Amino acid sequence: MILESDPLAPYAMHPEDTAGRVHPEPPHRYRSPFQRDRDRIVHSSAFRRLSHKTQVFTGELGDYHRTRLTHTMEVASLARTMARALRVNEDLVEALALAHDIGHPPFGHAGEDLLDERLEGYGGFNHNAQALRIFELLEVRYVEFPGLNLTREVLEGQRRRADKTPDGALRSPIIEVQIVDAADSIAYDAHDADDALELGLLNLGELRELELWDEAARRIESRYANLTPLELRRATIHELLDWQVSDLLGVAQTRLEELDLPNAEAARTAPIVATVSEEIAGKKRELEEFLFDRVYRHPLVLSHRMEATAALGELYDRCVAEPDRVPTHYRQANPGDPRRAAADYLSGITDRYALEAYRKL
Ligand code: MG
Repeated sequence: MILESDPLAPYAMHPEDTAGRVHPEPPHRYRSPFQRDRDRIVHSSAFRRLSHKTQVFTGELGDYHRTRLTHTMEVASLARTMARALRVNEDLVEALALAHDIGHPPFGHAGEDLLDERLEGYGGFNHNAQALRIFELLEVRYVEFPGLNLTREVLEGQRRRADKTPDGALRSPIIEVQIVDAADSIAYDAHDADDALELGLLNLGELRELELWDEAARRIESRYANLTPLELRRATIHELLDWQVSDLLGVAQTRLEELDLPNAEAARTAPIVATVSEEIAGKKRELEEFLFDRVYRHPLVLSHRMEATAALGELYDRCVAEPDRVPTHYRQANPGDPRRAAADYLSGITDRYALEAYRKL
């Protein structure tokens, strides 16, 4: 039984061990450095705009499915549960989770691919790297410094997401970062399937051909009789989350006992601790491949993707050709670089704003 008052484990990131901020600030009277990070992220304009940004399905498709903001809240919720169970730093985990998708442009991966293509040869565009630009440069909240001046732990967690070089992959991140990565994948696998079912892109029978889904559904059927398809679907989604989280906690607890890590730093030279078992990982891959083919490439999704790409592409080209279209702040942040200024500006706008701006053109 885990209680809220349980102390942090030795391998947790203890607030007094933080590597601090680039612009030093005195400690707060009653908030830990990571609580302050969380608050800074929540109060940023980039965070608020996640409410009108696509996760997988655009807003025009209805109002049941996840937005980038609700996905982010679901990731934070799962990640905090795992952090508390493993007695690692819940405030840091929450800050990392709330931050993890903040660099996404409008229209999800379609928007990202478009900007990346336009910036080919000029540094490209990646949502994880964009989050760092938001945190270090683009958000304006304080008189004393640009950006949010987050702790090095949060920046490093995000940098790791951005830097997928083989070299970077050799080092494990601290356990709090590992948990947020795992929570992201647990959340979107279950919820993308749920959203696709709601939109009628998939049916329950097709998902039952996948081991992960079928086993979760069978667990539910053994517990309840005569469920309606909707009851079964809702309970299966819940089971998928609960099963994966429990599985991860089991793996993590075993590894933590074996490794006996003396401090947070020791996790960096150890194998990954917070991960699902090989058995579940294989089944997740099967589900992800299925979602990739059947949902992310569904004609309905692709047609919205094409519209979105056309709109954002046109906006980008106009902003580069006529730099005055880009707000001063973004031009000042990128002197002599109209391409990056356009990307910084356009990646920050919402789906809604982008479509409206496109119609006005
Ligand atoms: Mg995510």
